[in-house]
Amino acid sequence: MKRLVILDLDGTLVETYSSHLLPNTAHRLKELAQEGYHLAIATNQAGLSWRVWTGKTHYPTPASLSERFHATVAACPELQNHAWFVSVYDPRVKLVENAFQEVAAALTGALQGTLPVLKAQVSADPLWRKPQPGMLFAACRLYTVPVTAALFVGDMKSDAEAAYTAGMDFMQAEVFFAR
Ligand SMILES: [Mg+2]
Repeated sequence: MKRLVILDLDGTLVETYSSHLLPNTAHRLKELAQEGYHLAIATNQAGLSWRVWTGKTHYPTPASLSERFHATVAACPELQNHAWFVSVYDPRVKLVENAFQEVAAALTGALQGTLPVLKAQVSADPLWRKPQPGMLFAACRLYTVPVTAALFVGDMKSDAEAAYTAGMDFMQAEVFFAR
């Protein structure tokens, strides 16, 4: 019996880089919460770091990403009750460790400064970036659930790899949400 369902964000809950919910998202999450499952979100958001490194304005800022997360919660209020894990690291971005940590702190600040305050943990830890399993372990720790009692739902190979490395079951978003 699974007790924790961890969900990727882009391409799983919403259309990538938007707050537009994909079909069945709201309904299915409400159902899971009613059935007593813990839910968590685990999302790679290194665009912030790419912006700092390249200066290119098509990447998000902490403010614009926070705005997108809040618009997503407005579209699916259920998501406000659950923990968000956000990774800002990317090995392809050549920033010093401190600069990644500043990006993480800036996003944390933006998220805390906007209502409703999300239960979000942001990290620059390389082990948090999927396909590394750090965010999945952090979610299990938060809810005191063994990895064997958790399921990860995502749309990418890196999601499946993170689950595999963590020793956790994985399900494709299209299957999980019956799309
Ligand atoms: Mg995805």
